[in-house]
Amino acid sequence: MLTPNLSYANLKESYLFYHIAQKTKAYLEANPDKHLYRMGIGDVSLPLAPAVITALHEAVDDQSEKARFHGYMPECGAPFLRETIAEYYQKRGVSLASDEVFVSSGASDELGDLLDLFDKSNRALIMEPAYPAYVDANTMVGREIVHLPSGPDDHFLPLPKEGLEADLIYLCSPNNPTGAAYNREQLSQWVAWANARGAVILFDAAYEAFIEEDLPHSIFEIPGARTCAIEICSLSKTAGFTGTRLGYTVIPMDLERNGMNLNAMWVRNRTTKTNGISYILQRGGAAVFTEEGQRQIHDNIRIYKENARVLMAALDELDIRYWGGKNAPYIWMQCPDGMGSWEFFDKLLNEIQVVGTPGEGFGACGEGFFRFSTFGDPTDTREAASRLLTLLKR
Ligand code: PLP
Repeated sequence: MLTPNLSYANLKESYLFYHIAQKTKAYLEANPDKHLYRMGIGDVSLPLAPAVITALHEAVDDQSEKARFHGYMPECGAPFLRETIAEYYQKRGVSLASDEVFVSSGASDELGDLLDLFDKSNRALIMEPAYPAYVDANTMVGREIVHLPSGPDDHFLPLPKEGLEADLIYLCSPNNPTGAAYNREQLSQWVAWANARGAVILFDAAYEAFIEEDLPHSIFEIPGARTCAIEICSLSKTAGFTGTRLGYTVIPMDLERNGMNLNAMWVRNRTTKTNGISYILQRGGAAVFTEEGQRQIHDNIRIYKENARVLMAALDELDIRYWGGKNAPYIWMQCPDGMGSWEFFDKLLNEIQVVGTPGEGFGACGEGFFRFSTFGDPTDTREAASRLLTLLKR
């Protein structure tokens, strides 16, 4: 008889967002007349930029004519998009060869798929609170996980410390869920630590476009990162591609372990396991990096940042401690009156119809905290902030 992957039995019962969806569904079934103010899941609410839409339409038209038609695309990405992304990094002083950039169908897919490159015996260190997919993807392959908790004392930016050992290190900056972002000196500590051990950092830069302070957008801004890091990025939050799907991954040519080159291994992986990303989507993605595209996506990001400002003003007025909101589209607050994070979730849902995300879902150290996404509709966000004020001022 076939033996399934028994590691699945070690997964937590239900995925965080699935659990939230179930709870909100049950609430709406019991209260069909109520409107929910959704600030839970980090999905965008604004449409794609006009420059992207034009490029997508043009690419569809290309597919209608023999002379401009595209069949299979190169597995690692279209040269035009790989070059465009390398130029985007160059603007920040990071030199990449275009074949160090791999086009992907999004960061989530990539964060799971990349695990093919590493032996199961490696230990994965995950800074927590963390995006749940890191833990789940490693649990599915049966890898040992080293949880690195963080909290108010280290401003949710844990650093390497005595006694910590791991082979694969997940860093997410700006962070989901806490909104905290590492500075250069802090990231340099991680790079030195990884190089000293021959470990590899998986750097999730999904929220780099939200940085407004002088902080690194890419791990490759840090000297030494080319020999110890892979960067995973996505157009989902940067440019509203959550439903359109496009991302990219950087694997430097200098990254080698046991005499094996990880860039070459990933080429081998992609050319076996994918037939590339749709030509149409890659054209749409390239438009994000044009001058016009950049202006338009930053217009949208400013709208989300205004949502953050409204929520932060409410929390300031309530004298509630929070992190994030500045360099990331998430606000991470301390639950009031020592409440547990699911308890606070239920209170907001039942009493003011506001949906957020319980911090406990991002790791044990998230208990007692709560995440608001700022990707929601601005009118709903203003109403949610006002309801929060009324509820917690009582
Ligand atoms: N990484 C982080 C930290 C995220 O928060 C998300 C989505 O919320 C992803 C990756 C996944 O992004 P994508 O839509 O590209 O799969």
